[in-house]
Amino acid sequence: MLTDDVPLTDHHCHGVDIGTLDRPGFERLLGEGTRGSFDSAIGLAVRRWCAPALDLPAHVGSDVYLRHRAQLGAGEAAARLLRASGVTRWFLDTGFGGGTAGFAGLVDGDVHEVVRLEEVAEQVIAEVGAVSGVYDRIEAELRARATTAVGFKTIVAYRCGLDFPPQDHPPTSFAPEHRLTDPHVLGWLVGLGARIGAELGLPMQFHTGFGDPDLDLRHSDPLLLTGFLRRTASTGLSVMLLHCWPFHRNAAYLAHLFDHVHLDLGLAIPYVGHRAAAVLAETLELAPFRALCYSSDGYGLPELHYLGALLWRRGLGTLMDEWIAADAITTVDAEALVTAIAHGNAERVYGAGLGQVTTRKQNRPVGR
Ligand SMILES: [Zn+2]
Repeated sequence: MLTDDVPLTDHHCHGVDIGTLDRPGFERLLGEGTRGSFDSAIGLAVRRWCAPALDLPAHVGSDVYLRHRAQLGAGEAAARLLRASGVTRWFLDTGFGGGTAGFAGLVDGDVHEVVRLEEVAEQVIAEVGAVSGVYDRIEAELRARATTAVGFKTIVAYRCGLDFPPQDHPPTSFAPEHRLTDPHVLGWLVGLGARIGAELGLPMQFHTGFGDPDLDLRHSDPLLLTGFLRRTASTGLSVMLLHCWPFHRNAAYLAHLFDHVHLDLGLAIPYVGHRAAAVLAETLELAPFRALCYSSDGYGLPELHYLGALLWRRGLGTLMDEWIAADAITTVDAEALVTAIAHGNAERVYGAGLGQVTTRKQNRPVGR
């Protein structure tokens, strides 16, 4: 397949759990709810594809899989699965699942940070309280964190929904919240991230579509961002719509309309398992090929990072074979499409942040 050996940039993922996991602990991390299950499309995929990556026969029973994984040790299993994914560049959302240092020890390739707006704001509020000047402190901290990041991420979808109010200035009255939920504060924070992102060339990732039980799915349809996308269309900001399912067609439509909008499918690919090609096909109905990026959105279980990559390769590979067989695309054009989605689009869109990080590393004084 055209996709077999293409290097991947995983532009949105999280750290992994290398502690001992019992069966309920492992299954919980297999799904978004309080109880995932082997008895599902992703469970089948773990048994079919992760088992051979850990030297077990394909389709091995879940008990055997978990026992073997425990014997290997979670750290060793993680290193094997992450290295087998063929990802050469990882962008880690450090707002959830740990920092870059631990993850870098488990993978091949370089690891870069994506900074979560709400986490930074909440840290500052916890430190200084709801004093006057807290908004300036949040902006200063975001700017400081931006110097070593490749992008920003917002989980406003979880907090008040993607229909947050546009808010150029911070609200004058401020009730301290350990967990920000005030739509006006969040609207201001997203606007601030968008301004800094546009200024520094750092893309802003939005959680959209399915997520864990905190999320009200009705408020995570990316179409709710239409006003925000109109307002930011000519500011220089790049927007990344993450996950998107079941609204991936809506997200594809937005990327079709707006040049600065990009999207990925994240965990939708491993979750739908064998149906990955269908979801990719629906996304590519309208999404320009320069707008779609690869990500696993893996968190907790390295199986998710691995299956994200493997099922993406199989799904897109199958789709390209089909298009080539139908004479809808040439092999040369299909190769260009695959390369763009695998890593080219992410390299272009995150180019400023990647360049900045590389320069900073080179300039770092010895002994720091
Ligand atoms: Zn994520």
